[in-house]
This record gives sequence, structure tokens and C-alpha cells, in this order.
Amino acid sequence: MTSPVKTTCPYCGVGCGVIATPQADGSVAIAGDPDHPANFGRLCSKGSALGETISLEGRQLFPMIDGRRVGWNEALDAAAARLKSVIDEHGPDAMALYGSGQLLTEDYYVANKLMKGFIGTANIDTNSRLCMASSVAGHKRAFGTDTVPGCYEDLELADLIVLVGSNLAWCHPVLYQRILAAREKRPSMRIVVIDPRRTNAAETADLHLPIATDGDVALFSGLFAHMHNAGAFASNYIATHTSGFDDALDAAEGWTIARTAEATGLDAAEVAAFFDMFTATEKTVTVFSQGVNQSTSGTDKVNAIVNCHLATGRIGRPGMGPFSVTGQPNAMGGREVGGLANMLAAHMDFDKAELVARFWNAARIATTPGLKAVDLFKAIAAGHIKAVWVMATNPVVSLPDADAARSALRACDTVIVSDMFATTDTARQAHIFLPAAGWGEKNGTVTNSERTISRQRPFLALPGEARPDWWIICEIAKRLGFDGFDFSSPAEIFAEYAELTGFENNGSRDLDISGLAGRDYETLSPVQWPIPAAGGRRRRFFAGGGFYTPDGKARFVPLTPPPPRTSEPGQLLLNTGRVRDHWHTMTRTGRTPRLSAHYAEPFAEIHPEDAEHFAIRRTQLVRLENRFGSAVVRALVTERQQKGSVFVPMHWTGETAPTGRVNALIPPHIDPASGQPGLKMGRASMSPVDVALYGFAVSREKPLLAGADYWALAPADRGWRTELAFFQRPGDVLSLARSMFGLPENVTLTTSIDARSGRISIARFDLDRLTFAFYLSPDPVLVSRQWAAGQLSETHADPLQRTRILSGRPGSDRPDPGPLVCSCFSVGANQIADAVTSEGCVTVDAVGAALGAGTNCGSCRTEIRRIIEAHRLAAAQ
Ligand code: SF4
Repeated sequence: MTSPVKTTCPYCGVGCGVIATPQADGSVAIAGDPDHPANFGRLCSKGSALGETISLEGRQLFPMIDGRRVGWNEALDAAAARLKSVIDEHGPDAMALYGSGQLLTEDYYVANKLMKGFIGTANIDTNSRLCMASSVAGHKRAFGTDTVPGCYEDLELADLIVLVGSNLAWCHPVLYQRILAAREKRPSMRIVVIDPRRTNAAETADLHLPIATDGDVALFSGLFAHMHNAGAFASNYIATHTSGFDDALDAAEGWTIARTAEATGLDAAEVAAFFDMFTATEKTVTVFSQGVNQSTSGTDKVNAIVNCHLATGRIGRPGMGPFSVTGQPNAMGGREVGGLANMLAAHMDFDKAELVARFWNAARIATTPGLKAVDLFKAIAAGHIKAVWVMATNPVVSLPDADAARSALRACDTVIVSDMFATTDTARQAHIFLPAAGWGEKNGTVTNSERTISRQRPFLALPGEARPDWWIICEIAKRLGFDGFDFSSPAEIFAEYAELTGFENNGSRDLDISGLAGRDYETLSPVQWPIPAAGGRRRRFFAGGGFYTPDGKARFVPLTPPPPRTSEPGQLLLNTGRVRDHWHTMTRTGRTPRLSAHYAEPFAEIHPEDAEHFAIRRTQLVRLENRFGSAVVRALVTERQQKGSVFVPMHWTGETAPTGRVNALIPPHIDPASGQPGLKMGRASMSPVDVALYGFAVSREKPLLAGADYWALAPADRGWRTELAFFQRPGDVLSLARSMFGLPENVTLTTSIDARSGRISIARFDLDRLTFAFYLSPDPVLVSRQWAAGQLSETHADPLQRTRILSGRPGSDRPDPGPLVCSCFSVGANQIADAVTSEGCVTVDAVGAALGAGTNCGSCRTEIRRIIEAHRLAAAQ
């Protein structure tokens, strides 16, 4: 064992501290950092499983040009030469860089410096545009700068937490557990969830408002008018620290409770209850994330929320304020150093180009904003951008109109990709592939949603020829002939960035970390900005005004709610989002069996009445289709979904379920102020898929799936689990099995065929080990997935056990754990139900005491509660 290393989780914007301890056997023990102010030792299911994601399997460990192995010098020379030729021939705007919230601040800083400062184009944008650009735009409109005014502690101090478009329970689990723990200590605290779906966060809320898609501006306009009529506004704060109040009030006028209810699809009594609660509770924090941001009216939604906080003066004081939580680990760091095309660097706009150029000694600085993500890929498709460099992200899956993004890259003259994996849907389009270092290997800083800067420290050696992103960028910059990139470590880059934040600042800009410029980088503890060298640190912003507008006053924004979104005849509103245990396009979480077990394939949540209307049966496959693309996913019929809408998670890719790339159906429509696409705003028709044969397989080796019309592949302990479907019945299922699992024709297979039901089971054993089990059925296969996947780890010398595998039914001596609920302790739904009915565990804590479930990260506690409710009656009998 080597010494523990304090680092930061690479997933969500909570930014939890992690202690990683490499072990003698090459594994890494992971624990939450008890001293980190974001999580105080807690980790969610994703963070807890980080140690399972560090294997080198599938990593690309040397550079490639057109699929050919080359050395670094050849790759860097070629990349620089191609970029130079494009810039010389077509100008700097013919080049683009598309980055990621996975990049560290130091990577982002040099990428931005190269593009905006030296190449002279602002065509550098990032996948953070898809995540929180509307919050940035809303902050800048209201505050004059992109400041998150509060801190996580406010979520514990508040008497009312309003979650808008945020399934915090699954997407920022540690933060949500902090809120629940605070409510447990102080039961008077209230949680309101505003979300079209009854999410896991909604199930633990005191009030859930199942708002119609894009009803948020109307709801907060109604709240604004209601609070004004109730005399709840802070007139002193409004008069002293804000401008534009009268226009905002005029715009909100007439938004009565009845009109608000009508526009939002909510019950008037629920609207009134929420308005009264918000009006009466001074200590209110409104948390918002993707449901607000990923909309064509996202910026207005942010300002509708901020208007209510400004008008009540509930901002920047303990326990109150609007609070944008970011999706990505370093979305904040990226926007701080200029990762977005419409910002320059260190929170400066292009009107500060001369200042930044002087600091960088850059002769060719960009003076106007560049293209934002969606427009940038349209420009690639149109041939205006002739060279693009994609870093640490997978736009072919994550952008709206994702098939068009893939076509754009296919048509582009030069595509450079820096990534850990060459097999992602995006990396497959690369002409030049540059192998980048990953989490555990990289060294730098990230900033979380509460402005805390934390170190990501390496605890693994750089594998093969992989190199850090900052090094790759600097090497190409030097080959392009630019000075100013002679950095020998991320510490030097960070010091320059810290200096820039203080350069000619004198309190005129919120972001000032000049106090860190001389601080020892290696031992830097998590620290919240601002940290000016001249002193003047503070925890929160704006309690006493001091906004970064020309007059120092916050700006109210007058708002007109968009018309309610409705589905077209024959279509459903299409909402996209995330599941508990996966992260983005699963390049990391998709490598662990336990994170892949919670949801192992893409699905569509459909309301029962819609299912009936569209003749869809539970668990069958459905096709979603519109003029942009189509997807085939599993039907999950549930009352948690609103009637008229369908929800599909965005994680699945060409590598894991090629028909499940849901963003292929999302139109490339953007918010006019932020450029953020409305990723939750699709429409699609839905129909049952005519499947001749469904399949499910567990296997030691990765199956060959070319013959299947639908497949979804996930890792299992010691192998793989695969869902399949064939739209035409395969002629010979035994030949199919042999070709799928790479066996010659003469290999004997064990089979079981039920002529009446048409179910077929095929298995092969190697001595007492299961090689594969393959179940086929005209209906969705009923075999317990958890149990079947577990058989790869068992021995099967007993013929009875082999028979059970073929029948797909566990024996009473080996009960079926059921679908995975708690991934930290691998506890299934059947085990929890059994604890309720047999052992009388009728509280979540009692289940935790009996099985451990829900006692680590807590992300599954809502699901446990749901199972308890479903079985409580049986327990009482
Ligand atoms: Fe990582 Fe989970 Fe913490 Fe987010 S909440 S930073 S995913 S451990």
C-alpha cells in the first residue's frame, strides 16, 4: 500500500473530496475525504465505485494518425501542421476547439490562451454549453458577472429548499443527503420539488409540483406578482441595490394564481401552497440545474428565479439565495478561465481584450465571441470550420441532433481528438488521436458549484504514452510558433491564472484568486474564492449589493413566459436526463458491473395511459421517432411519468446500445441568450417494435452482436450481460449462439426448448464454469438479470444447478436478489422485500440495519422506501 492521496471526484459539480489509496495488488481503495467541505467524508454510489474504473482495459495508450501508431513527435507535428495550414489558408476562424467540463482548470486555461490569445479565434466552446450556459447568461444579466452567490452550507441553514428542474437525489446525491440530514435534525425545514416527473427527489419532498414542460417562467412570474401583492418585497434592498424593478413588476402583472395554474398545468391549490410557503419563509434557497438550463427559455427561467430572490433581498445571506448547481466536475473552472466562446478569461468579457492581451503578451487576441457548441457544429457541417480539436468529450452522443454532429465530423477535413479511449463514438471520427491522461493520473484543480477550488492529484503513473491535456496543448502551441506556453507543470499554469485574476482588478471583478499565486500548489487545501492577494475574502456575495454592473446594481429582467409546450398530434413530449449510477456517456461508469446493474439498458419512462394509447406493453421495445432521428429502447411504464411525455436517459452510445442515442432525436434549438440547447424539449412519436425474438445473455467473453437489431451491453462480474432483440427470427439459433460467442460449429451446447411458449435456453459450460447462458423468447425474457449475471461467478458441477441455469430460475437455496437497488452493498429489491415481510423491517433504517442497503451514500433510500411501502401490508398480516 502506498500513501493515501487527497483528490477530487471526477463526476458531478458537488466536487466531493476523495482519498485514494493505491494497494499492493494494483487496486485503489477509495474513501470520502472527511475534511473536504463539500462532502465531509460522504460519497455517492458513483464516487464510491471510482476504484473500479481505473483499469487500463480499452485505453488507447499511444498516438495515432489515421489509425496508424505513431510517436508523439510525429502526432504533434502533424496536428500542428494541419492546424497551421487551415489557419494560414482560411483564417483563424476556420479552426475550432471543443472541450469539456472534465478538463482541469489548467488544461482549460492553456487551451483558451492558445485559441483566443494566440491563434486569434474565440471558436472554443465546451460541453458545459449543454449543461449550465443558461445559468451563466442569467447570472450575467442580473449580477453583471457569473457569480454563484451562496455556498453549500446555505442548503443546511435554509428553512425552505426549492428544487427546480433538479433531481438532486440522483444527480448531486451528496448534496441531497446533506439537505435530508439537515431536515432530519430540523423537521420544520421544507423541501419543494418543481419537476414534470415524480423523480426520486420529488418522492422525498414535502410538496411536488409536477409542472408542465417550460412552465417555470410562468410559475416564478406568478410568485413575483403574489409576493408583491402580499407586501413581501424588501423595498430597501430593491431601492438601494437594484434597477429595473418596475419593468419586471409590469411584466409579472396579471399572473394570478389561477392564470399561473393554467399556464403551468398545476393545481391552483398547490400553486397557492407553494406561493404562501415561499412568501412566508425568509431563509429560502432555490436550487436549479438541468431542467432549468436545458431549455430554449433557460436564461429567462434563471432570471425569473433570481428576480424573486432580489425582490425579497434573499441573496447572499446565510440560508438564502438562488443556487445553480453544475452538472460537471469542472464546469465552474471552465467558465472561470474562458472555456466558453462568449467569455474571454478570468471572468472577463471581450471588452477587456486589450488588458488580457497585455497580460499574455498576445498580439492576435480575439476581440469578439466565437461560435457556441450547436452553431459550432453547424459551421463544421457547412464546411466553414475545417479543423476541429475535440478534448475529453463525446459530442456525437451528447449534442442535440447527434446524428448531424457525427455527419459533421465525418465531413470535416481535420478532426483531432484527445481522449483516454479511441473507441468512443466521437474518437472513431478522429484523423489524429492523442492519448490523454485520465482521473488518477492527472494533476490540477477543479472548481465546484460553491466556488471551492480543489486539487485533483495523481496517484497512478501515466500509463503507456498517455500525456496530460495541458502538456499536449502546450506542445502544439509551441509547434505553432507561439511563446507563452513554456510551462513545465500545472502549478506554473495555475500561478499565471491566479495572477491574471488579480491583474488590474482592484475589486472590479468578482473572480480574484491572486492570493493563491504564491501558495504552495502541492499542499493546496480546498479553498473557496474570492481570495484576493490584498485580502477581503468572503463566503457569500451580494447581501449588501455590490453587483458587477456599471452602476453596481442588480438588474431585474422583465419576462414574458413562453407559451405552454404541447405535443403534436400523435407525438409525446420527449424529456431527456440522467440515471443514478451513470455519468454522461458512461466512458467511466459503464466499466463497472455494479454501476451498470441499476439500469443496464436504455429505457423510456411512459405513463400507463400513454402506454395503453400507443398499445405498448411493459418491458417490450418501443421506437421513438421524429424528423431528426429514431431510437429503440425498453418501455418502462410508470406513473412517475407525466401523461403526454416520455423520458429517456442520455447515457447510452454506439458502444453500449447503438439504438439508444436519444439526443439524435433532439432538435438543435437553442436559448437565444445562452446558446444552450433545449435538450429536454424534444417531441417524438412512439410505437411498439415488432420483435420476432427477444434475447438476454450472460457471458464470460464480450459477445459479437452484429446480427442483432437491438442490443445493450453492460459489464457483469467476470463477464458481460447483454439484452438483445431480433426483428426477423434468426434461422438457426444454435449457429447464432456459436457466432455470438465465438465458438466453432462442432462445440456442443446445452439447450432447452419449450415448444409451447417458444422459449429457448442455450448454455455452455467449461468444466464447472458457465461460459455463457443465452435466453431467447418471443416475449421479453423473464429471467432475473441479477441472478443470471451472478452465475458467472459461481461453479456449476451439480447437474441440478445447470438445469436451473437453463430454466432461468434460481433454486430456493439460492434466492434471486432481484433488480439491484443499493449498488454500494449490492442489495436487490427481492432481498429488501424479504426483509420487510419476513423480518418486519418497515423503516429505511431498519432495512439498513438488516442488509446495509442505504447506509453508505443514501442514493437508494427513496427506492427502499418505495419497496417498503409496497410490502408493508404483507408485513403487517
Ligand atoms: Fe462524485 Fe457523487 Fe460527490 Fe458528485 S455527489 S462529486 S458524483 S461522489
